Amino acid sequence: MLTVSYPDVQLFIDGQWRGGSGHDGAPATQPIINPATEEVIGTLAHASRADLDAALIAAEKGFATWRHTAPHERYKLMRKAAELLRERAEDISRIMTMEQGKPVAEARVETLAAADIIDWFAEEGRRQYGRLIPARAAGIQQIVHREPVGVVAAFTPWNFPINQAVRKVSAALAAGCAVILKGPEETPASCAALVKAYEDAGLPQGVINLVFGVPAEISQYLIPHPIVKKISFTGSTVVGKQLAALAGAHMKRVTMELGGHAPAVVFEDADVEVAVKLLSGAKFRNAGQVCVSPTRFLVHQDIYQRFVDGFTEAVQTVKVGNGLDESVRMGPLANARRVEAMEALTADAVAKGATLRTGGERIGNNGYFFQPTVLTDLSPDARILNEEPFGPVVPVMPFSSMEAVIAEANRLPFGLAAYAYTTSGSRADEFARRVESGMVSINHHGLALPETPFGGMKDSGYGSEGGTEAMEAYVNTKFVTQLGV
Ligand code: NAD
Repeated sequence: MLTVSYPDVQLFIDGQWRGGSGHDGAPATQPIINPATEEVIGTLAHASRADLDAALIAAEKGFATWRHTAPHERYKLMRKAAELLRERAEDISRIMTMEQGKPVAEARVETLAAADIIDWFAEEGRRQYGRLIPARAAGIQQIVHREPVGVVAAFTPWNFPINQAVRKVSAALAAGCAVILKGPEETPASCAALVKAYEDAGLPQGVINLVFGVPAEISQYLIPHPIVKKISFTGSTVVGKQLAALAGAHMKRVTMELGGHAPAVVFEDADVEVAVKLLSGAKFRNAGQVCVSPTRFLVHQDIYQRFVDGFTEAVQTVKVGNGLDESVRMGPLANARRVEAMEALTADAVAKGATLRTGGERIGNNGYFFQPTVLTDLSPDARILNEEPFGPVVPVMPFSSMEAVIAEANRLPFGLAAYAYTTSGSRADEFARRVESGMVSINHHGLALPETPFGGMKDSGYGSEGGTEAMEAYVNTKFVTQLGV
């Protein structure tokens, strides 16, 4: 039942919600589309250059206040923001489903998980200990301080409108930084609800600012700007490389959480039924639009047929529809670009000889729905085996040995997540050691908890968005040595 209507979304600058100032008196806006219906459900304000300047000045001022706010005070305020998110979770999750498409149960999990992430970083912010290093001579004191880096520019995408933002914002705030968040233009309201929770918890003006607009224009302006000291981006590898290069030219610190192409390996000794159940659950979460989604399914030849039959059957039971219907397991894709990509990747694979086991088509002509799809007998040059699909299409391939499967798992330039199913401890251990991946999950899908590292290697980026490692990105180390103490 719908209990909340979709709001128009404004910018949040220096503690005020407002429209964009626009050019020549004409503020720019963009329509927000519900991907399940293709209806326009709201409008989003775009920031002009003047608005970005206002956000920069506000953030600089906010940082001056926040960096000197006692960690215990920051902690209390952050915990309050987390509680507000929990109280508002029902409304926020419906808004998220309206703008992003995911089933409302997933939106609820995302919102409540965001509150847990805030809690965790709030606690972690109280433990930013320095150190005292024993000196080599009497009378010398050697101290390591940890200081917040300053104003952070954070760029977050549309697949997890709150989760992608809350990790960056909360680690930054816990460290004492101020933030300019460029939220996701296609899914802005739930991200704005996160910022509102921080506002209502009492965050001082300017400590968090939320802007939207043309992503390339905003990043080109903010990244080189002298007020901005740290960049954090989540999105595609191609954009991440451009932004990292720009940040490098201006010697800015960077965290990059980019694309993946996770191998999901099912060894011959795995419990096939468990692998089918867990992989079919994980794959269609958020309609496959997840950076750590299991993507290349690699199944030992001895159990290949059993797995393909069982998996295809499981996939055919996935109920697709409007995510506001609680019985739906997979919503629409988030935008028309993803549907086109799924059609193109499937057509390419089939043209190169793949067998379509199930799915393969857009559903209806209203809303961005695509069938959960399984492909086998793929040619190695099929695009889907080489490009991140970011959607509900699964290529399944057989393998014959550990050597062969490790070579395939490590073949691509990505290295974000990897999965394996096996009942052998030594196989699990060998896979975990040899796979080139920032995260490895074996016999379950256990990634993305607040307290565990989250990040990739190779073209999937660098830096971590979880665990104690996430705080490192937002602090500078200062070493002070003093004689005569
Ligand atoms: P895209 O590559 O244009 O955009 C990806 C994200 O980057 C969006 O949030 C967008 O607003 C932002 N972006 C794009 N250009 C930017 C710029 N110059 N400066 C700052 N931000 C910029 O394409 P898309 O269609 O939105 O997504 C396509 C691909 O992006 C997906 O197939 C997937 O590979 C990747 N993606 C990854 C994640 C992730 O969680 N790692 C999330 C969303 C998209």
